[in-house]
Amino acid sequence: MIFALIGNPNCGKTTLFNQLTGSKQHVGNFPGVTVDKKEGPIKKHEDAIVVDLPGIYSLSPYTAEEIVTRDFLIKEHPDAIINIVDATNIERNLYLTLQLAELNIPMIIALNMMDEIAANGGRIDIETLSELLGAPIVPISASKNQGVEELVRRALKIGGNKEKPKNVDFCSGDVHRAIHSIAHIICDEADSHGVALRFASVKLVEGDERMMTDLEIQPPEIDIIGHIVEDMEFHCGMDREAALADARYNYIVEAVKKTVVKPTESKEHVRSVKIDKILTHKIFAIPIFLCIMLVIFWITFGAIGAGLSDAFSMGIDAIIGVIDKGLESLAINETLRSLLIDGVCSGVGSVLSFLPTIVLMFFLLSILEDSGYMARVAFVMDRFLRTIGLSGRSFVPMLIGFGCSVPAIMATRTLSSERDRRLTVVLIPFMSCSAKLPIYATFVAAFFAEKKALIMFSIYLLGIAVGILCGFIMKKFAYEGEPIPFIMELPAYRFPAVQSVLLHMWEKAKDFIKKAFTVIFIATIIIWLLQSFDIRFNMVNDSSQSILAEVGRFIAPLLAPVGFSDWRIATALVTGFSAKEAVISTLAVLVSAGDSSQITALLPDLFTPLTAYCFLVFCLLYTPCVAAIAAVKRELGGKAAIVTVIFQTFVAWIVTFIFYNIGMLIL
Ligand code: GDP
Ligand code: MG
Repeated sequence: MIFALIGNPNCGKTTLFNQLTGSKQHVGNFPGVTVDKKEGPIKKHEDAIVVDLPGIYSLSPYTAEEIVTRDFLIKEHPDAIINIVDATNIERNLYLTLQLAELNIPMIIALNMMDEIAANGGRIDIETLSELLGAPIVPISASKNQGVEELVRRALKIGGNKEKPKNVDFCSGDVHRAIHSIAHIICDEADSHGVALRFASVKLVEGDERMMTDLEIQPPEIDIIGHIVEDMEFHCGMDREAALADARYNYIVEAVKKTVVKPTESKEHVRSVKIDKILTHKIFAIPIFLCIMLVIFWITFGAIGAGLSDAFSMGIDAIIGVIDKGLESLAINETLRSLLIDGVCSGVGSVLSFLPTIVLMFFLLSILEDSGYMARVAFVMDRFLRTIGLSGRSFVPMLIGFGCSVPAIMATRTLSSERDRRLTVVLIPFMSCSAKLPIYATFVAAFFAEKKALIMFSIYLLGIAVGILCGFIMKKFAYEGEPIPFIMELPAYRFPAVQSVLLHMWEKAKDFIKKAFTVIFIATIIIWLLQSFDIRFNMVNDSSQSILAEVGRFIAPLLAPVGFSDWRIATALVTGFSAKEAVISTLAVLVSAGDSSQITALLPDLFTPLTAYCFLVFCLLYTPCVAAIAAVKRELGGKAAIVTVIFQTFVAWIVTFIFYNIGMLIL
C-alpha cells in the first residue's frame, strides 16, 4: 500500500515522515526544504510505504516542485493520502484539504501541532470538523510523537477498505451550477483517463490548461465549457479562479467557526512578534545578521573550533604514528610505506582533522535554521536581492549552498521562473561551501592566527558580494526581466529540536567522512604516484623532477599574475576540481611528510601572507567541483555547465588579480 504525505510547506510533513519510517530526512523551519519525493516503509508495517512530497498550497501548481506533488497524486494513484494540516494555521491548510478531498482517493487528515494548540487553551471539535470535511481526522503532534500510532492504525484501515472521502459540496449558486454542468460534459473523458470527475470539473472551472490537455477535450466541448464559465463569471461578478477560491474560503471559515475555539494569542506568537521587531528591523536587520555570522566564525575557527580541531588532529597523528611503527616493524617495502604514510595518511588525515570544525559550524547553522531565524534573513534579503533581479526565494537555495552546492542547485526547483532559476544557479557556487572549510582553516591557522574570525568573515562576505555583483551584471546583459514576486510566510520562532539539529550534524559528518575515504583517498594516491615518478616512470627523490611538477609548471604561468608561481600550488588547485578538500590533501602530500599538523608549519615556504589571502580568494571563487558541475548539467543542461566552469574561473582570476596587485601596492 502506498500513502502520500501531502500538506502545506512547513506543516511538519518531514517530521511525520521521519516518525513513521524511522528515517532521518532533513527537517527545516522554513518552506522549500523538501524538493524531491522520498519514500520509506512504515515501521512495523513494512508493506506500507509512505512518500514524503514537497509542500503545496493548492493543486494548481506554479513551481517545479509543486508539479512533482500533483503528478504523483494524479498519475501514480497512491492508495491513500495522509493530509497533514497545521492546526495553528488551520484555515489556510484546509484550503488544500478541500481540493484533496475532490480527488476521490481514500484520505485521512492528520491534524498536526496539536501540542501548541493545547498549550494555549485552544480546542477543536474533531468529530464535527471531520464530518464537515468528509474525511476522518486524527489529532497528532509529529515532533512529540503523539497520536502517530493511532494515525497509522486508522490510515491502514482506510487504505485497506478503500474508504473514499465523502463529497462535500463547498459551493452553492452559480459556481455550483457551473461545476455540475461541466461534470456532465466531461464525464466520459474523466472516466477514460482515470481522473476524479469532480476534481476535473473544478479544475476546468478554474481554467487549468493542464487538465484540458490531460483529458484531451475536443473543440466543441471546449467552447461549451468556455460559455459555461463566462456565464458563471458574469453572474457572480468575479473571475473564475477568484470565484472558486472565494467559495472554498467561505466554506472553510464557516466550518472553522463551528468547530474551532481559537487559542488565546499564543505565547509563541507574542514572542515571535516581539523578536521580529528587532531582527527584521529596517536598518538593523542586516547588521545583526552580520554580527551573528561573525560570532559563528569566531566560535568555529577561534574560540572552540581551533582547540577541538587541534586535539582531533593530534589523535589522528597518533594513529598515523602507530601505523607507521607497525609498517616499520613489519619491514614493509619503503616505497609502499611512503605511499601509505606520506600519501594516503597525510592527505586523508589533513582533511579529516577538520571534522570538528565542520560539525561545529553546522551545529550553529542548524540552530539558526531550525529556530526560524534563517527564514527572517530570507525575508530581509528579499529587498536586497530584488535589486539584482532575484527574488527572496532564491535565498533558500543560496543558503543551502553554504553547506554544499549540489543540494542547493537542486533546491532551485522551488523557483517558479526559469529566469530566476538560471540566475540563481550561477550564483550558488559563489556561496562558500563547507568543503572549502579545510582550506580556509589550514590557511588562517598558518598565516592569520590573530585574526581568524575576521579573515573568514571577509572571505564569506566576498563570496556573497562577488555573487551579487555578477548577478547584477548578468541581469543587465543576459537575463532581463523582473523576478517573480516572493511570498513567504514567516514560521514561528521555535526552540530548535535537539533531534533534528543532531541529525543535521550527523548527516554532514557522515558525508564529510565518506568523501575523505573515497574521493580524497583516491586523489591522494594519484597525487603521490604522480609526484614520485618522472615521465619515464623512474622513481624520483626530488618531486620537482616528477610528472606532476611538469604538469604544474605548464599551468603555473597562467597563475603567476595572481601570485601563485609555484607548480605545487597549481597542481593543488587542479585537484580541487575533484573535491575542494583535495586542495588541502594535495598540499599536504606535496609539502609535508607524514604528520598532518606539519602542514601549518610548512606552508610559509610556499606562500606569503598576501599570496595566502589571494589563494583563499581564488579557492573561494574558482570552478565548482565535479559533483556541483554535474548537478548544473542535470538541472540546466551541458552548455550551462560549461559556461559555469569558464565563467567562475574567469571571475576568480580577475578578482584575485585585483587583490594581488592592490596588495602589492599597499604592502
Ligand atoms: P515540512 O516542510 O512540511 O516537511 O515540515 P518539517 O517537517 O520540515 O517541519 C517544519 C517545522 O515544524 C520544524 O521546525 C518542526 O520541528 C516543526 N514541527 C513539526 N511537527 C511539529 C509538532 O507537532 N509540534 C510543534 N510544536 N512543532 C512541529
Ligand atoms: Mg519537508
